[in-house]
Amino acid sequence: MAFFIKRLAVVGVGLIGGSFAQALREQDLVGEVVGVARSQKTLDKARELGVIDRGTLDVQQGVIGANFVLVAPPVCAIVPMVQQFAPALTRGAVVTDAGSVKSSIVHACEQAMPDGCYFIGSHPIAGRERSGVEAAFPALFQGSRTILTPTPRTAPAALEMVRVVWEACGSQVETMAADHHDRVLAATSHLPHLMAYNVVKTLSDLEQDIQAEVFRYAASGFRDFTRIASSDPTMWRDICLENRDAISEILQRFRRDLDELLALVSQGDATALHAMFSRSRDTRERVLRENKVLRNP
Ligand code: NAP
Repeated sequence: MAFFIKRLAVVGVGLIGGSFAQALREQDLVGEVVGVARSQKTLDKARELGVIDRGTLDVQQGVIGANFVLVAPPVCAIVPMVQQFAPALTRGAVVTDAGSVKSSIVHACEQAMPDGCYFIGSHPIAGRERSGVEAAFPALFQGSRTILTPTPRTAPAALEMVRVVWEACGSQVETMAADHHDRVLAATSHLPHLMAYNVVKTLSDLEQDIQAEVFRYAASGFRDFTRIASSDPTMWRDICLENRDAISEILQRFRRDLDELLALVSQGDATALHAMFSRSRDTRERVLRENKVLRNP
């Protein structure tokens, strides 16, 4: 049987890399899956779970003979790993990543490609708070969106291959420029995650200051709002480092809005507070209505 992907290399076999391999296996699109991780323990686990056929700790060994490579370690490790394995790529190989930040990654990885090999940036907007290969499952990308970030140098056939592969995983594919992606995601994903981490920090500092239990009285609002503060700290540290400008810009904007809110609360401005909460509630309901076809808008 001729597989669409004869040999898939997954560099970083965690939640995203593992789920990607499982989804493509389910669709019978892939012949062999080779995993690359930092630890033998991860590789053993991935084999035991049937996510990969074989594994290696040597990233150059891992990509030899692969016609498709997914790179899915934390964001700051993506460029160094691609630069390390690029000389070992087989001619014709298509390489993509899953990083949550695109601009710096796409430009460096595109430059690292040897002649006849292609890099396309991807960001699957799907995930959960758990990480590692044990958390992987094949339906992770069903009903999600994946953003591809081609450049003027992108080969159309390579872009098409990456699109087909993400669609086979159950994702709806869209394309946009990498720097635009980084500004949009800073606002819609990175800001809410940083807010959630920060609210938990504020409350835990408060608990220390007043020497009394604060979290005991945390209600469902706290649970809903801070769910994403259970996400992997390494992943979020790396996202902040790699998308520093766009995140700083949106945080400054948020700080201005917070100052305005503080003024309304301290002045007891009932009309303005009601108007602001109503506007936000209406916006949220409209956004959810418009995105109702997608599980992970
Ligand atoms: P994960 O479950 O923690 O998996 C990361 C994998 O990368 C593991 O196989 C790990 O190997 C390996 N790794 C970790 N640090 C490394 C390093 N410094 N050098 C080389 N390999 C390293 O992470 P994930 O949630 O799948 O996220 C992977 C990527 O997808 C990230 O770039 C993230 O931005 C992006 N992403 C994540 C989500 C999400 O919600 N989780 C959504 C969209 C995109 P060991 O197990 O051996 O340590």
